[in-house]
Amino acid sequence: MITPLLPTYARIPVAFERGEGMYLYDANGKKHLDFYSGIGVMCLGHCHPTLVNAVREQAGKLWHVANTYRIPEGDRLAERLAAASFADTMFFTNSGAEAIECAIKMVRKYHYDKGQKGKYRLITMSNAFHGRTLAGIAAAGQEKLTKGFEPLPDGFDVVPFGDIEAVKAKIGPETGGIMVEPIQGEGGIRPLSKEKMQALRDLCDENGLLLVLDEIQCGMGRTGKLFAHEWSDVKPDIVTAAKGIGGGFPLGACLATEDAASGMTVGTHGSTYGGNPLAMAVGNAVLDEMLKPEFLPRVKDMGDLLQARLGALQQRHGDFIQEVRGVGLMAGLRMPDVGTRSAVIDFVERGFLPAVAGDQVLRMLPPLIIDESHIDEAMEIFDAAFDDWRKNGTPTG
Ligand SMILES: *Cc1c(COP(=O)(O)O)cnc(C)c1O
Repeated sequence: MITPLLPTYARIPVAFERGEGMYLYDANGKKHLDFYSGIGVMCLGHCHPTLVNAVREQAGKLWHVANTYRIPEGDRLAERLAAASFADTMFFTNSGAEAIECAIKMVRKYHYDKGQKGKYRLITMSNAFHGRTLAGIAAAGQEKLTKGFEPLPDGFDVVPFGDIEAVKAKIGPETGGIMVEPIQGEGGIRPLSKEKMQALRDLCDENGLLLVLDEIQCGMGRTGKLFAHEWSDVKPDIVTAAKGIGGGFPLGACLATEDAASGMTVGTHGSTYGGNPLAMAVGNAVLDEMLKPEFLPRVKDMGDLLQARLGALQQRHGDFIQEVRGVGLMAGLRMPDVGTRSAVIDFVERGFLPAVAGDQVLRMLPPLIIDESHIDEAMEIFDAAFDDWRKNGTPTG
């Protein structure tokens, strides 16, 4: 018999009651070191006092009004994000998938308004993840996402990840833009090199295309910059953000340059909840912490430390770690011959919470407030687990 809750998730049999900083506590009071952050969402950790206070204060004042009215906290959040990034303007959503939808509509409307109606197609990359809407799964072009949901919306040309020649070959009279994750998350923690980012920018410039970067997972401080593309010299036209942007409150954004957004005039797009006062209060509180001058440099240091420690871990356990991947606090371990899901369940029993990603990767997206002691603790758990597996066999549960 079907469960009342639609059974679309393979859930690990543990439920958490409370969280504090880097830790989650389950119903038995057991403490778990959180290296997943609810898919990279809890950037300030669990129950950060700044966020708790922001929610409490706003909840007693005003939760929601229609976007028919001015929402000053939204103006303020947009001004602050624009000042801190490439963007001139942005649209607030409740999720990453909606930010992607906004980005796709923005590209189409841009060309339409320039009298180039036919330029509606986006070139995207294999193993991508752009959310679960029909357009999002069509853009990702992965069979495991799309199977059974056809017909899919038209307008996406998927090329192999990072294959610049394939992108070049796909550009045609109907191409309106290129959309890519600067670091693939779900696909297996795969960064696009600076050179390739630049090559995509150049192709966009040469062909009058818009460059859309999906930074829903790699953005909002995860790599030690507000957005991951800031490690390159590339200026995008459109960037999608979500996950960390709300620190646990459902919030996303589609950021753009003035030119890229030029088609999105009154009446062209909207959302009932998107950008409501409660969400905007939390978004501003996240920025209160993230824009402190010491915050991102600290994330960079912790990210470097994590990557170095994972490299050393690989030296000790080459039999279980084929490759260390990632940038900053977006990290992955490619595991040979070990079911990553079984590995994750084994780690949960050890009070440690990494997750899986595609391509046999154990994924880590710890809260950005992590310090060295948590990295030490994680490495001790890894050492113990790998020693156990070597002695007693790899987990199969
Ligand atoms: C999570 C994610 C999305 C989808 O975001 P939702 O909030 O789940 O809709 C899109 N793109 C990337 C890169 C993501 O990591």
